[in-house]
Amino acid sequence: MKILISNPPWFVPTGAVKPKALRMGIRAGSRWPYTRKVHRKYFPFPFNMAYADAYLRKMGIASTLRDSILLLDDYKDYFKLASNYDYIVLETSAASWENDLYVVREASRRSRIILVGMHATAFADELIKLENVFAVLKGEYEKSLYDCLTSREGRVYDFDEWENIDDAPFPTRDDTIYLYRARRDLMLQMWASRGCPFRCSFCYVTCFQDSNKYRPHSPERVKQEAEDALWRFPKLNFIYFDDDTFNIGNERIREISGVMKNIGLPWGCMCRADTCNLETFRIMRESGCVELKIGIESGSQRVLDKIINKSLNLNKAKRTVKELKKMGFHIHGTFMYGFPTETPEEAQMTKNIMRELQCNSKQFSHIGLLSGTIAWKQFEKIHKRRPTIEESDGVLLKGI
Ligand code: SF4
Repeated sequence: MKILISNPPWFVPTGAVKPKALRMGIRAGSRWPYTRKVHRKYFPFPFNMAYADAYLRKMGIASTLRDSILLLDDYKDYFKLASNYDYIVLETSAASWENDLYVVREASRRSRIILVGMHATAFADELIKLENVFAVLKGEYEKSLYDCLTSREGRVYDFDEWENIDDAPFPTRDDTIYLYRARRDLMLQMWASRGCPFRCSFCYVTCFQDSNKYRPHSPERVKQEAEDALWRFPKLNFIYFDDDTFNIGNERIREISGVMKNIGLPWGCMCRADTCNLETFRIMRESGCVELKIGIESGSQRVLDKIINKSLNLNKAKRTVKELKKMGFHIHGTFMYGFPTETPEEAQMTKNIMRELQCNSKQFSHIGLLSGTIAWKQFEKIHKRRPTIEESDGVLLKGI
């Protein structure tokens, strides 16, 4: 039994050969699948794929991992490769769904198709009815994929999350790791935790994770995984913790900072402004943490409280960001617009706060509606239809 776990090609228009593609999509590994110009500047590491591949191998199943987005595979080459496998595991998303359906149709001529990812999770009961689909797995899928392959039952597999994520083997990493770079950095992307205790309406965790339960790795496991990767791939020169929210709790984050200090590489992480105190941020900075990505999202407290459920005190967050800048962190702020009922004045408030905070870099984009999130369901209720591909891929919508 041969298994291909894949992040299939996604060029726009669907089926285009690479030189003629107008855009390409970023899917697995991204919290927010979207399209962009065809370039090699940044690719998110496909964590769920890499963890699933590692688990199958550990359990003695021949599995191959292929990130065809990273490798800019053409559809033709992908289908040729895929035809050698009995089962193809396909990551899906709302913004790529039209493309994914094309891939399903073509790839199912020779192989059984197992759908995973955000879109598959949200619409499992509907997608299992497609004649070309063998099984659909909800949420993180290491264990459910193993169950599916060993039982060979074509059906929907419910969420099956690790209670203790230290039980998961290290995700598969091979030489392609050097292509997951950002700017000049050869970046090791890691998770020190899974899940997030918050429930922001737009966020994929409200669909993809069963319990919203925050599950941390132990500092010792973080150390072992980082050391293993750095020993095997010594050119890596930066570590990035792409957790849903890395900095939860002071004690554990200080312990991980101690680990990172000993490792001695610069590092960064995905944070909230309010889930650890300033002293912990200072300890992180001293240990080599140089970059924080922080979601502020809106300059309107009403939007944060009433529309997107961010549970963030804006004034406190502003004060924290200003202090973090003084400590010398590179702050990447993320902001959005286009929320339901957001007024032009509130959108302007977001622009004002961006100007006030002067983050070192920022992301300012239209809200993208991700399959099955609270925001997606609100949209369906109001508009009596599902969001379009453009409404899921926020970058395709017009700016303010
Ligand atoms: S805090 Fe971040 S990861 Fe958590 S639900 Fe909100 S947007 Fe998602």
